[in-house]
Amino acid sequence: MAGLLSISEPHAGSPTDMNNQNDTNNDFLASLVSDATQAPKNVTEQYTREDIAQLFDLPLMDLLLRAQTIHRENFNPNEVQISTLLSIKTGNCPEDCGYCSQSGHHRDTTKLQAEKRLEIDKVIAAAKRAKATGSSRFCMGAAWKHPSAKDMPYVVELVKEVKALGLETCMTLGMLDTDQATQLADAGLDYYNHNLDTSRRYYEQVVSTRSYDERLDTLANVRNSGINVCSGNIVGMGESRDDRIDWVHELLKMPKAPESIPVNLLVPIAGTPIGDKVLAEGQLSVLEWIRTIAVARICCPTSYVRLSAGRESLSDSEQALAFMAGANSFFYGDKLLTTGNASQSGDDRLMRELGLTKQFAAPRAPKQVPVLDAMSGHQSRVVLAE
Ligand code: SF4
Repeated sequence: MAGLLSISEPHAGSPTDMNNQNDTNNDFLASLVSDATQAPKNVTEQYTREDIAQLFDLPLMDLLLRAQTIHRENFNPNEVQISTLLSIKTGNCPEDCGYCSQSGHHRDTTKLQAEKRLEIDKVIAAAKRAKATGSSRFCMGAAWKHPSAKDMPYVVELVKEVKALGLETCMTLGMLDTDQATQLADAGLDYYNHNLDTSRRYYEQVVSTRSYDERLDTLANVRNSGINVCSGNIVGMGESRDDRIDWVHELLKMPKAPESIPVNLLVPIAGTPIGDKVLAEGQLSVLEWIRTIAVARICCPTSYVRLSAGRESLSDSEQALAFMAGANSFFYGDKLLTTGNASQSGDDRLMRELGLTKQFAAPRAPKQVPVLDAMSGHQSRVVLAE
């Protein structure tokens, strides 16, 4: 990838040296913008692991410039997509994710109260509220290893009813086999979330009950079913920058980068193994999370990069930097699955101050069929009524 190796170290020197240095920096910045504007869309294979590492190493302002330039090439820079997340089955999850309050493995220390499946009418009522407040996508999460056979009619019904409200649908239900992914695709599910969380190397420090390859298998099943893929990470679990680089590289090794990439900042929860460790040893700098967002934006230029967990603890300025880095989606509402979120009124105020507007769900493409003209033999396409 051109341009990344030409960074000059800042140094003290004579005025002539300084002028030369400024010229060099200006040339470099111009090359960054030029590279960015000429970057082919939808092509991610051009970034090797070494390229990704060099992006992480860029001076922050150069990285932000490049990320923002690429962002502007692919999206309206002042528009954000807003999703609402609802837990439809909380707690007592059989998996042992070290950061999660919902894991049954940590329930003695987190004291999280498990709940049964939420009734369908309650989910629909929450979806209506989400739509009324400007969300374009409604995400439903269940603390399962995978949906059981008896859960499938329930989740299929939810997809159909939420879509009937005119909302995009997303689910995160654990692992999916091919048949389950097909059932959800047939119901019209728009997105399925399944995070890789971190690098393959660091993963064993995070989860032991589900393998990295099982995660990739689920993502492949989702991709093959035609559902859009949502897959992200959690920054600040004690992983190294190398792990963050490897996580981005994993996204690029997929046949197609996920359409949606949540970049979570760990919310350390007391009573979870990772939360307790981070609370004792200190949290990662927010700027490293912003770097991760910027690198994800550059490497996956047409994906939505989502601010997820961790936002409630951030200042307006830190969130503004995250949008500058190319984030263009966030969760709306006062609660994520079990952790707090930035308040909705606070989000509205921040969006006004930043001049951001809400992106509404893209209307479904009208169905078209090819029709041959009986006289001329020319083919044309006819739009069918819905
Ligand atoms: S992150 Fe998901 S799979 Fe892991 S313990 Fe929590 S609810 Fe279960």
